Amino acid sequence: MPANTKIGSMKRLEARYGRKTRERVGIIEAELHKKHICPNCRTPNVKRVFVGVWQCRKCGHKFTSKAFTVDKTPSIKDSNASQEQEMPEPTPEIQAETQEQVAAE
Ligand SMILES: [Zn+2]
Repeated sequence: MPANTKIGSMKRLEARYGRKTRERVGIIEAELHKKHICPNCRTPNVKRVFVGVWQCRKCGHKFTSKAFTVDKTPSIKDSNASQEQEMPEPTPEIQAETQEQVAAE
């Protein structure tokens, strides 16, 4: 018998629905129930409220992501906020250096 015939939560289905279907659902449910990291407070306390809706049990932050998993990349709102903080205006020295690098290539 192959090692991954019964994947985690799919043991409950026993011999029903076919092997491939059970394996696919097993992979999805394993992803669904594993610990996801909150984009707001970075703690692994995020639970799914509804399809695509996730909420942090610690800080209460509610956000949208993928249906069965939290997307690794932050949402559009979060990415805009981080870009404003992390991207300072380029100084003339940096601009001159980048122009030299482009000319060298
Ligand atoms: Zn949180």
